[in-house]
Amino acid sequence: MNDELVADVAVIGAGVVGLACARALAQAGQSVFCLEAEPSFGTGISSRNSEVIHAGLYYPEGSLKTTLCIKGRRALYDYCDARRVPYQKCGKLIVAVTPEETERLSTLEKQALRNGVENVDAVTPETARAMEPDVTSYGALLSRETGIIDSHSLMQAYLSDVEAAGGMVVFNSRISAVRRSSDGYEVELEGEAERFRFRRLVIAGGLSAQHIAGTLIAEDGATDSDHAAIPKLHYVAGRYYGYSGRHAVRHLIYPLPVDGGLGVHATLDLAGQLRFGPDARWVDTENYDLDPICPPEFVNAIQRYMPWVSAERLHPAYVGIRPKLAGPGEGFRDFEIHTSDQHGQEGLVCLYGIESPGLTASLAIGDVVTRELS
Ligand SMILES: Cc1cc2nc3c(=O)[nH]c(=O)nc-3n(C[C@H](O)[C@H](O)[C@H](O)COP(=O)(O)OP(=O)(O)OC[C@H]3O[C@@H](n4cnc5c(N)ncnc54)[C@H](O)[C@@H]3O)c2cc1C
Repeated sequence: MNDELVADVAVIGAGVVGLACARALAQAGQSVFCLEAEPSFGTGISSRNSEVIHAGLYYPEGSLKTTLCIKGRRALYDYCDARRVPYQKCGKLIVAVTPEETERLSTLEKQALRNGVENVDAVTPETARAMEPDVTSYGALLSRETGIIDSHSLMQAYLSDVEAAGGMVVFNSRISAVRRSSDGYEVELEGEAERFRFRRLVIAGGLSAQHIAGTLIAEDGATDSDHAAIPKLHYVAGRYYGYSGRHAVRHLIYPLPVDGGLGVHATLDLAGQLRFGPDARWVDTENYDLDPICPPEFVNAIQRYMPWVSAERLHPAYVGIRPKLAGPGEGFRDFEIHTSDQHGQEGLVCLYGIESPGLTASLAIGDVVTRELS
């Protein structure tokens, strides 16, 4: 083993959240290595999402998902302006597709108010139709703060910030295990006999966070799982299909949320291309296969608010998998940011269940982690 400390902190995972943590830690003056298994950054959950900058209206007030989304979103728009990361604050309409759903819409509006989300308004069916003539609804909630972002450019900007602050992002470095030592943590890399030592450790491994944390053996021989601190992980897969053809959609269009997700919505990319997804299916394995023919239930979900969309116009795009902490029907579960309060280890932060709105919240998560490790 190498007796020298490699750096103050190792961040495991170079997705949008790991990079945001590495950036914030490096800018706070810590020496940082961000260790990524793959040959490039952001190939995990961070490249398989809707690329939406969320307003923060869905989740309970005071939850991490709400507070970090709102803080992160405000910081993200400023950051994108400063660093010229492409984005568009296009706004979104959450639509009621039956008369009964209008009640759920007003519940959501009240939640948005309680959360302190700016620029959210209920709109009549007529106004919704004037804004989006090709969308059917019994009324809608308009969120003007919602936007879309080029998430790859965002991660590239975070990575440049890490390097500018003296940190390093190291690719092709798959961590096989982590261990507690007398003055920090030892990291074992797959295929390397040597272990590398860091004073502090951040586990931002996305779908692998639980697995990596489970390899940690404390000096007393106990594992994090012995302390029952690692939350169970559920995979919830979401399929995306792109739309081929002309369209006149200008806002993001969301139905009301479903168990496991926000409902099959219509998003735009920065080139104006229309894309639908993700649906929500609890699965047992990490499988990204996608049926080339869009399944009927997926088409039906779209046709509830855009009846003119036909299966023939939909082409397979990609699958994303949410690292969920809630099982089917279990309702809301928050992000979990585990510190010594949960696992009893100093200098260790584990990020669990960082599903949506993790991209939006990334800068705010980076700040929380940095405060914890300062
Ligand atoms: C379907 C879907 C839609 C979403 N839509 C949105 C949205 O519109 N807006 C929004 O704000 N959020 C959205 N999210 C959430 C957002 O994408 C995630 O919160 C965010 O990308 C998580 O980033 P991460 O860095 O934690 O994980 P990841 O991007 O998965 O990064 C983890 C990294 O760790 C690496 N890694 C894993 N194991 C190891 C190991 N042993 N050693 C070294 N490296 C390792 C992986 O290769 C990976 O690069 C969505 C998520 C999903 C699944």
